Amino acid sequence: YCILFLQRRGAISYDSSDQTALYIRMLGDVRVRSQVGFEPERRSSHPYLCIDFRTLHSKRVHRLLSFQRYLHSSRLLRGIPQQMPLHILDEDYTGQARCMLDKVGNWNFDIFLFDRLTNGNSLITLTFHLLNQYGLVELFQLDMVKLWRFLVMVQEDYHSDNPYHNAVHAADVTQAMYCYMREPKLAKSLTSYDILLGLLAAATHDLDHPGVNQPFLIKTDHYLASLYRNTSVLENHHWKSAVGLLRETGLFSHMPPEDRSDMERDLGSLILATDISQQNEYLSRFRLHLDQQNLSLTSASHRHFILQMALKCADICNPCRPWELSKQWSEKVTEEFFQQGDIEKKHHLEVSPLCDRETNSVGNIQIGFMTYVAEPLFAEWARFSDTRLSQTMLGHMGLNKASWGGLQQELSSASEEADPTTAATKDGDTAGTTEGTSSKEIPQGSNVS
Ligand SMILES: [Zn+2]
Repeated sequence: YCILFLQRRGAISYDSSDQTALYIRMLGDVRVRSQVGFEPERRSSHPYLCIDFRTLHSKRVHRLLSFQRYLHSSRLLRGIPQQMPLHILDEDYTGQARCMLDKVGNWNFDIFLFDRLTNGNSLITLTFHLLNQYGLVELFQLDMVKLWRFLVMVQEDYHSDNPYHNAVHAADVTQAMYCYMREPKLAKSLTSYDILLGLLAAATHDLDHPGVNQPFLIKTDHYLASLYRNTSVLENHHWKSAVGLLRETGLFSHMPPEDRSDMERDLGSLILATDISQQNEYLSRFRLHLDQQNLSLTSASHRHFILQMALKCADICNPCRPWELSKQWSEKVTEEFFQQGDIEKKHHLEVSPLCDRETNSVGNIQIGFMTYVAEPLFAEWARFSDTRLSQTMLGHMGLNKASWGGLQQELSSASEEADPTTAATKDGDTAGTTEGTSSKEIPQGSNVS
């Protein structure tokens, strides 16, 4: 079991001696906390991961969230000096990663490279940097040690064995959210509270994601599905997990209780907006505001709505990134779908749409996703924020869609050559048939969130 634990520790490296001490110190605090006890929210993640998913994902290593952290900290804490100057917090990554952070507002920021340069700590490093850059740590009088612990725990509660819904996706969404909050309309109207909320929501929006979608949880009678009445099951869990970590680390414990509960509520409202099955409701409301030109960013509720739309865009912005980045995300999300399909087949459950690796391809899924989900959203976003960034994003999406279309065509002509009977039957068809059937199916419950 210990070996398994060590293998899945992709997120935090204990090998390099300069990084070790810092994380150990933070994890040491975690150990103290785990001995004291858990908030109710945290307790809920235990049966979630060790009862149902152990039987379903037989190949995977299952986490006992806080328990895992406890084991690690207790094993690794021995012999490590406890004292660590705080200034090391901001210098705990290589020079190259720091150089990348100088350009953190660039749309072609390579989060995969950044993750490698930070030894798998992209989410911690990026979020910490952005909070500092905005001066939010001083402004909200955040305790550096609590903040660092919070970010370490957030990153750890993402499942590094999910092909897609892992901490790198969260870091990517946080970086995109930062880009959107820098857009002129937002930059001049957002308050520090809005920015703090936007960054925290982005970093935590998929916390503890199990790598399967809501329909899967419902059809396997998962207790979270009944807990949240089959509605935004995952998003509610991400939110509650984030609140659990906030309370556990006491990051806002110095604030008045009313402010803390406002913060938790607003965090929830942002995270719940990422439920892709609610997309049409958000989009209609956005369209109506744009048609009537009645968005006023001096109003807190309108600013909150724009933050919700920004987070939704950040969450599904993969098709708007340059091809080399976009392609990698597409492959990862498809692999996660297909792994769910494999589990469904193995357990004789109905295979969810887009999850069957025999009948779907990365390209078809992407073309459908862009057409039905991403393009409508980013078209409205570009109406709201008509900037170079918006045009760049739409431009990339168009090119990426064409690239997938080209690859699909190559694939189908290659398979026709290999199989002369198919070639013969398709001979008289028009080019339109190459689109395939699977791209038409974009389920509301698709787990691209
Ligand atoms: Zn997401």
